[in-house]
Formats: sequence, C-alpha cells, structure tokens
Amino acid sequence: MVSALSAKHFHDEEAAYAYVEARIWPEGPVCPHCGGVERIGKMGGKSTRIGAYKCYQCRKPFTVKIGTIFEASHVPMHIWLQAMYLIAGSKKGVSSNQLHRILGVTLKTAWFMSHRIREAMQQGGPLMGQGGGVVEADETFIGRDPDAPPSRMAIRNMMQVVSLIDRETGRASSIVFTGDMSAASIGPVLAGKLSPDAHLMTDEAKHYKLPGKGYAAHSSVAHGRGEYVNADNAAIHSNTVEGYFSIFKRGMRGIYQHCQKKHLHRYLAEFDFRYSHRVALGYNDNDRANVLLSGVIGKRLTYKRTNAGL
Ligand SMILES: [Zn+2]
Repeated sequence: MVSALSAKHFHDEEAAYAYVEARIWPEGPVCPHCGGVERIGKMGGKSTRIGAYKCYQCRKPFTVKIGTIFEASHVPMHIWLQAMYLIAGSKKGVSSNQLHRILGVTLKTAWFMSHRIREAMQQGGPLMGQGGGVVEADETFIGRDPDAPPSRMAIRNMMQVVSLIDRETGRASSIVFTGDMSAASIGPVLAGKLSPDAHLMTDEAKHYKLPGKGYAAHSSVAHGRGEYVNADNAAIHSNTVEGYFSIFKRGMRGIYQHCQKKHLHRYLAEFDFRYSHRVALGYNDNDRANVLLSGVIGKRLTYKRTNAGL
C-alpha cells in the first residue's frame, strides 16, 4: 500500500514547485508583472531560490507564487500542498489545531493557511439551473449572531445561511444572509445565482413566493404540514439542500466550534467546495486537490501587513 502523501511533491520543494507550475502555467511560465510569455529564463545556481524565473521583457524576477494565496508566505510549497490535500480530502474539515500538529507549523500559521486555502475554494461558476434544471434553495441558522437585535426567539439570535443546490450538476452555493428574511431581500440573492430558466424548489416559506415568479417554474413542499416530499410528485422536495445543511452543521459543530461571523463565508466556501466536488460526482481526493490548486490564482488575502510572511 502506498500512502497518498508519499508522492514526491508533498516532500520535495523542487517537485512541489514543478507540480504547482504545471497546473498554474499549463503552457509554460507567464510573467506576472508584464504578462510576457516569451523571453523567460529559469534562474539557476546554488544561491537562487527554488522556482525563480526572470522575465527578459520587463527584466523582473518572479515565481509562481506571485498573485496567488501563496504570495508573501514563507511556508514551503510542499507543506502548502499537504495542507491543501488534507483540507480538500477531509469529510468535515480540518481544524487549525490539527493542521498545526500534523504539519509542524505554528498554530497561527496553520490558521492563516487554512483561511487562504478557503479563499482558493471560493468558486464563481455559471448560473444554476440553466436549461430548466432543478435548483433547491433553503435557509438555515447557525451560531450566535453578534449583530442581531436581542430577541426571545432563539432563531433570531443566530447567523443566517442561504444555500442553493443545483440538482443536475450537484453544485452547492451558499451565502451568509444578513437582514430580514423577506421576498425583497431574498430575491436579489436568488437572482445572483439562478438562471431565469431554472426550476426553483423551496419549502412554503413566504419569502420565496414572489421571487419564485421570476423563474421558469417554482415548486414548493409544505414542511409546516409535515410534508417532506410532495404527495403528488416525489421530485418536489428540498431534501438535497437539507442534507447539505446537515453536513455543514456537523462539520461546524465538530471541527470549527467558534466561528466568527466575519469568517463564516469562508467556511461556507469550504463546505460548498467539498460538496460540489464530492466522490458521488466523480471526484477523488487527487482531483479535488487539483481543482483547489487551480483556484489559488487571484485570491491573495489582504490581511494586515503584520501577518504577511506567516
Ligand atoms: Zn515581465
């Protein structure tokens, strides 16, 4: 038996750079300063950094890290690749504490690495439900919302999440929802993610009624009446998105107990990413890690300067 982590790019810094370069520059190195691709030389010699190139068009040196989540990080590339493989392959996530212990980096570094990796997990993607596909939408509540006005209803004191699942592609897309659950506020959220020809599927909540008219079809199931699948049509249900919420909540409770509101969108990106690239959709651990790697570009976090270099 061969451990997945025994691959060379997880241990050898040169192999790690080659691995990343092959995926970020499939057609050869690109100068991040001037966009040049032609007059680029690999810098050699003992004193040169691994992965250093020089562009002879603008005369500036660069590495594949520039403009990615790896920029300004002193963590070796092979350690980054281990972290990405572990987070992409875990069922419910990996805590900073676990990462710190497994990788031998400080807890603070582990925390920054995981947030940067979550940034790479943020997926744009096309509108959902194109061509008339079914998209389930629902909301859930998690953790205490520090901005919520005090209320005796427990649910009103919690952070709100709205998720959409495209049944055809299996893709999940979630947002931290702020403000009142109303047609006026949920409408724009749906509009940003749904194709007009989609078939929207929700529960009977009032706030989906009016926005639902903007799509080719809108079906709803009456959870209030104890109905979980529409009696006349078994395809009308929101069980897929509810299944997603249960994975998300188990992960948040088990691994990321104390999630601040300002970071919740990053955790959602993580759960969306894993769900959208799950085994049932044909992705193995390597595929998932490679999709993640393709997302590192243009995602450099703008944390305070004091945190650069972690
Ligand atoms: Zn250049």
